[in-house]
Amino acid sequence: MPLKTILDTIHTELSPYHAQLVAVSKTYPASTLRAAYDLGVRDFGENRVQELAEKAEALPADIRWHFIGHLQTNKVKYIAPFVHLIHSVDSWKLLAEIDKRAAAENRTIQVLLQFKIAEEDTKFGYSPDAIFRMLADGAWQQLNHIQIVGVMGMATFTDDEAQVAEEFRTLKQYFDRLKSDYFTDYPAFKEISMGMSGDYLLALQHGSTMVRIGSKIFGER
Ligand SMILES: *Cc1c(COP(=O)(O)O)cnc(C)c1O
Repeated sequence: MPLKTILDTIHTELSPYHAQLVAVSKTYPASTLRAAYDLGVRDFGENRVQELAEKAEALPADIRWHFIGHLQTNKVKYIAPFVHLIHSVDSWKLLAEIDKRAAAENRTIQVLLQFKIAEEDTKFGYSPDAIFRMLADGAWQQLNHIQIVGVMGMATFTDDEAQVAEEFRTLKQYFDRLKSDYFTDYPAFKEISMGMSGDYLLALQHGSTMVRIGSKIFGER
């Protein structure tokens, strides 16, 4: 199927939910991203720092780069000058480092808190308790160069739709709890990044505002 047809289909599916597409372009060459860019895609997701930095260098400056992979603190500095949204904040140490590097760049970096919602324990992400403890502690309020705009999670990779739906419901509940406990006065705290090629329709039904779709757009990696 032509890239344009695939993108049109996805946009039609997202539109009733007012959800946003992040085109996950990891492992694909810059020329592939360029083709999507020429069709209007501006949000791309990458999960490796070096690959992201190289692509950002090679592609137009108005792209919004989303970092969606596990991020090591010692690599934050390489993406801090330009990254649009970091979906994968899973420790206080990382949050503080992002703040420090953003301050050095004179900018504010938007982040999502990544919750561990999948049954498999191979996925990164905070345990819910750790996130709630970090927010209760309050030190995050002193970080002036990060803006927490929502949550992110990855469901278990399984055909069991009921299980995936349950995990999405759980993430939505965490979002609601954070919103009411800490972010009622922060309109920017509104994003729920959930849903990938295999499960994004289900994610939309459970409140996703941002889907991260790779293989459905660009083909199997
Ligand atoms: C690779 C990846 C995706 C996209 O996965 P697809 O199944 O190719 O759509 C989404 N989110 C994260 C965190 C990823 O690493």
